[in-house]
Amino acid sequence: MPGNPALSRRAASGGCQCGATDTQLEIEHIQPLSKGGSNRVSNLAIACHSCNQTKSNQEIEQFLSGKSNVLQQILSQAKKPLADAAAVNATRWKLYNKLKLTGLPVEVGSGGLTKFNRCSQNLPKTHWLDAACVGTSTPDRLIIKDVKKPLIITATGHGSRQMCRTDKHGFPVRYVPRFKFIKGYQTGDIVKAIVTKGKKQGVYVGRVAVRTTGSFNIKTKNGLVQGISHKYCQPIHKKDGYAYV
Ligand SMILES: [Zn+2]
Repeated sequence: MPGNPALSRRAASGGCQCGATDTQLEIEHIQPLSKGGSNRVSNLAIACHSCNQTKSNQEIEQFLSGKSNVLQQILSQAKKPLADAAAVNATRWKLYNKLKLTGLPVEVGSGGLTKFNRCSQNLPKTHWLDAACVGTSTPDRLIIKDVKKPLIITATGHGSRQMCRTDKHGFPVRYVPRFKFIKGYQTGDIVKAIVTKGKKQGVYVGRVAVRTTGSFNIKTKNGLVQGISHKYCQPIHKKDGYAYV
C-alpha cells in the first residue's frame, strides 16, 4: 500500500515490534486474512520479514503472548487511523450543515464520484479539472477550451530576510541591502521603461530588479533587459507578492 499516510507514519515511528529498524519492512495483517482479517489500514501493521514469517497465520495475541505491552501498543496504533478518519468525517458534516444554513444551494459529492465524472470525460487529473467535476450536477460534457493554465497568477512571496546570498556550498557570495527601495522602486515592481536614447532604445514592460546604482534589470515577455536607468521607468504595479503573467 504505497503512500498510505497512516502506515508510513507507523513505519517512520520505529519499525518492527522486535526492534528491527535497519531492514526491509513488510506489511503484516494483525488478524490474518485466512482467519477473516481484512486489508483495511486498521488491520495492518509493519513487521520485518522474519517476524512476518514467524507470525504467519497466528492470531496476534498468540504471536505476542508474553509481550503484552507490545501487543497493546500495536493494537492502539492500529486504531489511530480510524480516529483520524472519524475526526475528518465529523468536521466535514459539521461544515456541510453550516453551509446549508446559509440558504444557498449546497451540493456535495464523494471523491469517487469526482473521479468517475472526470474519467468518463477523459480529462487529465489536475486540481482545477477535479474541481469542475465535483458532485452530481457535473454536466455530461464539460467544455474545456484548450485551457492549459487556468490560473495566471503565481504567488511569489516577499523575499527572504537573508543578510547575504550564499553559493551552493553555503558560503556567502554577496551582501543583500536591508533597504529595498532604490529611487522609489523595489525588486518585484512592474514597470514600463521608455528608453529614448542609446543602444537600448525601446519600450520595456515587466518585473524590475533594482540595483543600488539606479541601473535596473527588467524581465520582459521577450527576455531580460539589463542596465535600464531608473530615469526611464514608470511604475505600473507595486510589488504585492504575486506575479501576473
Ligand atoms: Zn521483527
